[in-house]
Amino acid sequence: MTTSLATRLDYEALPGRVVFGAGAVGEVAAEVERLGAERALLIDGLFDAALVERIERDLGARHAATLGEVAQHVPAELAASALARARELDADCLVALGGGSATGVAKAVAKETGLPILAVPTTYAGSEMTPIWGITAEARKTTGRDLAVLPRTVVYDPELTVSLPPLASAASGMNAVAHCVEAMWTPTANPVTDAVAAEGITLLAAGLRGSVREPRDLGARALALQGAWLGGAALAVGGTGLHHKICHVLGGTFNLPHAEVHAIVLPWVVEHYREAAPAALHRVARALDAEDAVAGLRELGRDLGLEAGLADFGLRPGDLELASELAAAVAPETPAPTSREQIVSILEKAMYTGTTERE
Ligand code: NAD
Repeated sequence: MTTSLATRLDYEALPGRVVFGAGAVGEVAAEVERLGAERALLIDGLFDAALVERIERDLGARHAATLGEVAQHVPAELAASALARARELDADCLVALGGGSATGVAKAVAKETGLPILAVPTTYAGSEMTPIWGITAEARKTTGRDLAVLPRTVVYDPELTVSLPPLASAASGMNAVAHCVEAMWTPTANPVTDAVAAEGITLLAAGLRGSVREPRDLGARALALQGAWLGGAALAVGGTGLHHKICHVLGGTFNLPHAEVHAIVLPWVVEHYREAAPAALHRVARALDAEDAVAGLRELGRDLGLEAGLADFGLRPGDLELASELAAAVAPETPAPTSREQIVSILEKAMYTGTTERE
């Protein structure tokens, strides 16, 4: 039973082709050809030089160049230099290999040029499924929606994720869980995103536990990657809310790492909405096979070894004033309005403990 059924809603499905499977990275060149592209600019997420060389070889004459600079939250200067390079090369396609940072640079270029993106995601960030771009200038992150940045093709290969270390897998996976959770309480939530998000949480919980226990477990990696796919798909249509607004401020203004911040803040925002979004919390709990959404998320975090708080990544008590001011300015009204004081309270709790209850 969803809350959305009684509500007037508009739903628009998004286009996109997905190729999923162990070894699918071997199909990148054929997928570029399928897009009709002849001069692909490869954006290297910078974690596996041998893999980049292999894709360059596979692309052969269709490889225009490789861009070896990416950064979280896409600094405006980086977006500008990537755009200039794409224009100079007369590229007709962007291949983003890596996490959300590589996809983010490709999106910044596609936004200005309309070039098609082929994404090969290697984390659980989910950006490859969304038409959402983000660029950071003067310590402020701006995001927007544009169908031009939605990747045309996504090649998911779970083999590429086995090199993601356990803690990085855990944090990135909780970023994907956050996409699922938040898509359940936005004004654009609908029966499709509700179902996709719930299945995403279930797949992620199983896949992440298995991946952290045994990073080379391809079955677990595949479950987690499918969960991330669903998380991205839910976010793409359902949109984001308070949790993402807070995390964007922490990333854009304080340069905190994206996935880790999501993992830490999520249980506290869910706790904050306990009264305002009971149906969403019920669905999250059910998807986690837990009695309670907050307890279930904390248990998942503990199982994944996520214990850090925001302070561990450099946020200081003196930063809370600016962080809460910026987040309060963009805090959504749905599922309930949130005051600046309430955001301070969420941040205070998240400072010293991520997934565990403060003693
Ligand atoms: P990331 O892309 O910065 O990757 C984190 C680190 O992991 C990097 O050092 C990278 O080189 C390394 N890495 C990536 N894949 C690896 C692998 N398989 N093995 C070993 N190391 C690997 O981080 P992220 O969390 O994937 O993405 C964060 C960025 O994505 C942020 O800028 C965020 O705003 C953006 N994002 C955007 C959307 C959207 O819809 N627009 C959604 C989610 C995230």
